[in-house]
Amino acid sequence: MQDFTYHSHNSSQGIADGHNTCDEMLSRAEEIGFSEIGVSNHFIYHPNIKIEHSQDFNNFSKALDYAKNDIEQTREATSRHKIKVYAGFEVDFFPSKIWRDAFEKMLKEVKPDYVIGSNHNAFSKDEQNIYNIWRLGGKPIKDESTKEYLRNHWQNIIDCITSGYFTFIAHFDLASNLGLCTESEWDEWKWKVIEAFKQTKTPFEINTNGIRRCGIPSPDWWIVKELVSAGVPTLISDDAHNTNCLGQYFAEAESKLAELGCKKRFKF
Ligand SMILES: [Zn+2]
Ligand SMILES: [Zn+2]
Repeated sequence: MQDFTYHSHNSSQGIADGHNTCDEMLSRAEEIGFSEIGVSNHFIYHPNIKIEHSQDFNNFSKALDYAKNDIEQTREATSRHKIKVYAGFEVDFFPSKIWRDAFEKMLKEVKPDYVIGSNHNAFSKDEQNIYNIWRLGGKPIKDESTKEYLRNHWQNIIDCITSGYFTFIAHFDLASNLGLCTESEWDEWKWKVIEAFKQTKTPFEINTNGIRRCGIPSPDWWIVKELVSAGVPTLISDDAHNTNCLGQYFAEAESKLAELGCKKRFKF
């Protein structure tokens, strides 16, 4: 069974959205027999993002300080533990040059061990209006502008996959997990995303948080089957925001992957 996660969150600086400290997360990972762990607090920066949580930044120098302190804190905690630790980020990707320049500057200055490509937003093409899809979930999408923003969300996932920036891609059908884009009109987007993975062989995670929330991982098993049979590398992620969620539903994910005959597993 996979004895690591590369997608975990902690309460970094009292800013990030994990519920336990880095030390508590590392101790728990050791306790359950993990051989290694990736610490991947969010890196959410965009000049036009709405500040809805302390980890959302529209000011780049503040985002940079947070990121530097985060990696420093992880490295410091690592020295107190035996487990192998990688210090990374789960990054909200945006396609514009202004975002890419800022992101590249962060990579250069902060030097994380790895970055996970992620996307929690629906937005207008000019990136002036950005909505976190968690806050759109559960409501029927009727108006055209929201639909357009969601189409940009799917296109953004494709751009994220093909950007070449990321070690692997997080929960890319989170929208469906949240009850958005479940109608058949969105299937063509899901197939476009599958095609981007097939072309680039960018690794993807099976995010077990979805199993806890709604019985379905992200991506859904039918997409996992498509990608696994095309030889796209995969790994299981718990996306743990507290110690109890480390390793959650790994046994279920393992048995499904065995059933699918998965041979390409991603590991550092
Ligand atoms: Zn996420
Ligand atoms: Zn996450």
